[in-house]
Amino acid sequence: MVKTGTERTIVIAGAGIAGLAAALCFARRGFHVRVFEQANELQAVGAGIQLSPNATRILAGLGVLERFASNAVQPQAIVLRESRRLGEIGRVRLGDFAERRWGAPYLAIHRADLHAALAQAAHATPGIELNLGAEALEVETLRDHVRLILKTGGREQTVNARLVVGADGVWSQLRSGVAGAARSHFTGLIAWRATVPVDPDQADGTVPLHDDCVSAILDSEFHIVAYPLRGGSLFNLVAVTRGRELGQGWSEAASVEGLQKALARADRRLLQLVSQAAPWTRWPLHCVDPAGRWTEGGAVALIGDAAHAMTPFAAQGAAMAIEDAAMLAHLVNRSDDIPTALALYEKLRRPRVTRVARRGALNRFVWHAGGPVAACRNAALSFMSPERLAAGFDWLYGFDVEDGE
Ligand SMILES: Cc1cc2nc3c(=O)[nH]c(=O)nc-3n(C[C@H](O)[C@H](O)[C@H](O)COP(=O)(O)OP(=O)(O)OC[C@H]3O[C@@H](n4cnc5c(N)ncnc54)[C@H](O)[C@@H]3O)c2cc1C
Repeated sequence: MVKTGTERTIVIAGAGIAGLAAALCFARRGFHVRVFEQANELQAVGAGIQLSPNATRILAGLGVLERFASNAVQPQAIVLRESRRLGEIGRVRLGDFAERRWGAPYLAIHRADLHAALAQAAHATPGIELNLGAEALEVETLRDHVRLILKTGGREQTVNARLVVGADGVWSQLRSGVAGAARSHFTGLIAWRATVPVDPDQADGTVPLHDDCVSAILDSEFHIVAYPLRGGSLFNLVAVTRGRELGQGWSEAASVEGLQKALARADRRLLQLVSQAAPWTRWPLHCVDPAGRWTEGGAVALIGDAAHAMTPFAAQGAAMAIEDAAMLAHLVNRSDDIPTALALYEKLRRPRVTRVARRGALNRFVWHAGGPVAACRNAALSFMSPERLAAGFDWLYGFDVEDGE
């Protein structure tokens, strides 16, 4: 049964992956959840996203996985390739192997399909109220509850709750209500994204990326991650290069010239693929240091990118947002005292998120290495057995939020 007093009301700012996942996690524990999203309609920006078993396990438990499974692709491996000849330098097995080893599937999905599945599940769940066109401005912590100030249709409005969850992304406004929160900063990197429709007659292996794997092509000037989406009818490309700050905002339509320049010494087939793909969008990559504070006064909690946006090198930003949502709802539900639950949330989540962010930083160094470092990387990978490579992901993909306490 859903109780609707302030005592059992959770207010969430932002209906992205973190906000919708949190709404579902709280509602299934009997909380009344009010979500406020600034956009007038729910639209997922970006293209593909990889969802590792630590995230799909939670989405399966929320009944979301079954809503998007038919649109997802289960890649058979992550294949690392060097950029000059696209030769293979390492392979992590996925497919059934991943599902057996880590207890849930590793999937590639269009972001719009994931977002739609989360939104459908939220609409179908009693106790979740989804409000669009409502921008969260700030929070005020009062003695026994918290107040969120919103702008809706040009007018200010306030709502009261026991807890406000800031799921408002990397440029979070609610972060200003958390003393000691870290600010977002530009990483010096730009992500370029595009999708290419796949013509099965042309997927003849001339470009060894047209397969059912996640390919990561490594170079000192860039890396490109490529994988199939929507039953293989689309091919998702994400390239990361150095670049200048583009200002706030998720994406910007881009001419492909800057990317082609970075690819100048790469295999011509890769250049061809990049030239075929259109339109390209550019995303400035911003991070938030996970060492900053994520909670305030026992009444405000930041989750997802608002708390700890990370580079996409470990493909874990959305997975961490989903883990945060599950852990926060679990702890708040279990405790009579919200400040204690929030203190525990930070204490338990910070080491894991920090370790994942460090893995991303290591991947950045290794993937963009050149010269002797790249040669050592390639040699080390060629000596590693598939079992050893897989074992290196057990801590990440095998993680279960409720066991992780
Ligand atoms: C190139 C790239 C590739 C990536 N690939 C992967 C991957 O393969 N796997 C993976 O796990 N992660 C990946 N990520 C990371 C992942 O996309 C993010 O970590 C994830 O989307 C964060 O979700 P979020 O809900 O915290 O934030 P967002 O998705 O940014 O959602 C925030 C929401 O809050 C709303 N909002 C903002 N301000 C307000 C306000 N003041 N009031 C109300 N609403 C507001 C926004 O409109 C939006 O709906 C990738 C990221 C990039 C850039």
